[in-house]
Formats: sequence, C-alpha cells, structure tokens
Amino acid sequence: MAITKTVLKRTNLRFYPTKSQELVLSQSFGNSRFIWNYYTSIFLNKDLTTKIYPSIKELKEIHGFDFLKLSSSCCQQQTIRHFQQTIKQFFNKKRKSKIGKPKFKKKGVSKESVSFSGSGIYETKSGEIRLLSLGKLKLRGEIDLNSLNRNKIKNITISKDKCNHYYASICYEVEIEITERDLKEKSVGLDLGLTHFLIDSQCKKIDNPHFLKQELEKLKYLDRCLSRKKNGSNSYKKCKLKRAKLFKSITNKRNYFFHCVSKNLIENFDFIYIEDLSVKNMVKNRKLSRAISDVSWSKFVSILSYKCDWYSVSLHKINRYFASSKTCNLCGYQIDKLSLDIREWVCPDCGEVHDRDINAAQNILKRGEFELTQIQNKKLSKGIDLT
Ligand SMILES: [Zn+2]
Repeated sequence: MAITKTVLKRTNLRFYPTKSQELVLSQSFGNSRFIWNYYTSIFLNKDLTTKIYPSIKELKEIHGFDFLKLSSSCCQQQTIRHFQQTIKQFFNKKRKSKIGKPKFKKKGVSKESVSFSGSGIYETKSGEIRLLSLGKLKLRGEIDLNSLNRNKIKNITISKDKCNHYYASICYEVEIEITERDLKEKSVGLDLGLTHFLIDSQCKKIDNPHFLKQELEKLKYLDRCLSRKKNGSNSYKKCKLKRAKLFKSITNKRNYFFHCVSKNLIENFDFIYIEDLSVKNMVKNRKLSRAISDVSWSKFVSILSYKCDWYSVSLHKINRYFASSKTCNLCGYQIDKLSLDIREWVCPDCGEVHDRDINAAQNILKRGEFELTQIQNKKLSKGIDLT
C-alpha cells in the first residue's frame, strides 16, 4: 500500500534575464543589500539602548533614500523577514549549533539575491506564473514554472553567482508516494572517513572521490595568475571568473555524488545510524583541514537527513563520545590507543581481526539500535504514542 505525503522541495534553475530584467535585478540586489546593512548597523550599534527598526515605508521617506522606490517593496519586505529570522536564531538558546551576529554585506563579495513570495508571485489569466516587476522568466531545466499551480509555490529566490549566472530557486509543495517495502536488512550503520568516503556495517566501502584534490593543480595555477595581475584590471576579472567557475564545477560534482549515495541509502534501508561528527573541531587540525573540507561530510549529512525526513526513514546520530573505532564489535573490549594509520587490528580479548572502518560501522549500528530502543522506552514510559 502506498501513502502520499506532501513535502516542500526546492529546485534551483538557471535562468536567462533580458536586458531590462538585468537592470531591475541589479537595482533590487543593491536595495536589498542596503536595507540589510542599515538594519545590521542598528543591531550592532552599542550606543543604542532601544533598537527601533524603521519600516520600509519610513525608510523610503528618509531624505536621500529615494532609490529605494525604484525596486519592488515585496522583495524588500522579504529582506526584512530574513533579517528578523537571523536575529531570532542568534538569540535562540535551544539551537544546537550557534550562529553569529548578522554581518554587513559587501558588493561583489556577498551573494546577491532577492526573494519573492505572496503577492510578488502572481498568475496571469492564461495561467502563466510571473514575478512582480520582472515578468516572465526564461528558465532552463526540467520543471516548467507554468506547469506548477500558483498555490503550490511558496517562494522564489533570484540570485546571481560569482560566475555571473542567474538562478531561480523555487520552493514548492509536492506530493511524494511512500510505498511499503520488503527489505532484507532494515538497518545500517555508517562510518564516514577520509580514505573511504563511506563504510557501512555490511562491509561495503565507497571511495572518497577527492573532488577538490583532483583540481588542486589547476586551482593553484589560477591563484598564481591572479596574484600577478593588477587588482581590478580586465585580465584580473577574467582570471577571477575562471576560478569561480572551477569552484562551481567542483561543488556541482560533489553534490551530484551526495545525491546518488543518499538516494541509494534511502531506497535500501529503514533505519540509518551515523556518528555525530564535530566537523568544526576537526577542521582545526591543520594537517587534515583541507581533506576534511573537501570530503564535506556535513553537506552530505544534511542532504541525507532531509531525504530521510521526506521518505520517513529514521536517521539517528549516535553519541559523539562513543569510541566506535577502538571497541571490538564482538566482545565489547576497548583498546587504549589506535592511531590513524593503523587500518587493521587484533582484539586482545577474543582474537578477532578487525578492519578498522568496518568494525567502526558495525559498532555504530549496534550502538544506534541500543540508543534508539532507549529513547523509545523513555517515550513509552511517559505514555507518548510512537505511531
Ligand atoms: Zn573482541
């Protein structure tokens, strides 16, 4: 039996603006950045005891701020909403990972974007979806904006990246089907590593593709070129664009790889257990920092976790302080030391020969199942319905 579920999806599509759309967007990007910076300056001002943020209407009436009237207030409202959310998250004490104060945005450095929602997105009589002050978008990609119902579209963010490409990121509601499955093995433990990107408790290993390392020579060459050129000259800009394009291709390849791996996991398991990695602390290790940034575990985990959410697969992160590598998964004996270069070890208690990573993945699975049962028992004792 299949169950349908409504989820929010976001799709990023390249689009090609007309000359007039480009002008409108450039003004909107500038105004949005201005409003953000104006609010940030109020927030960061230590002399103010009470912080009063003017509304869009009040801002437009300030002498010298006439340029704000040149772009649609719908996008400006969205900028204010984003700012308010950032502050709310900054003061949120329940947040696991802390975020910093809002920062000033700088032209040419910060990402340029504006968001449309509510009346900023409208449907014409013929059923075409258009954006306020921009009109129709010429999109490239598999989703046709006009085949989507207006009510399904939650918001659209238009951005321009460092390669001067424009993108429309569309957030929309979609119904997905979850079918009941007959799986041989329902649970899997995953160990994320550097030599192998992923090792699972069923002894499967996926190589680390080293996307950044592959292009490192090219990147170093471009960096050298850039350092020789005069800042701001045409050749400097050209070289900078080349560098931005190279970075983008690395990110795209990496994301595609993550989507493939996560899709495969979602299709084959109902319960996935992983380690709760503290990547921020690991990157501080200077010898490994580049390799760890290249492997991008946190990006992978974030993709995996939203997909698990969509398809009702349970993803559990085990306790960070559990010694998954140093414990024997058969007898539970824990050794004192295991340096990073040792790939195989023998358990002094039961004599079993362990592959370092497979042993870790199997421990993660066991520990995960144990922790999950504990959580469920706690919930049951409190009388919370688990279904
Ligand atoms: Zn043992």
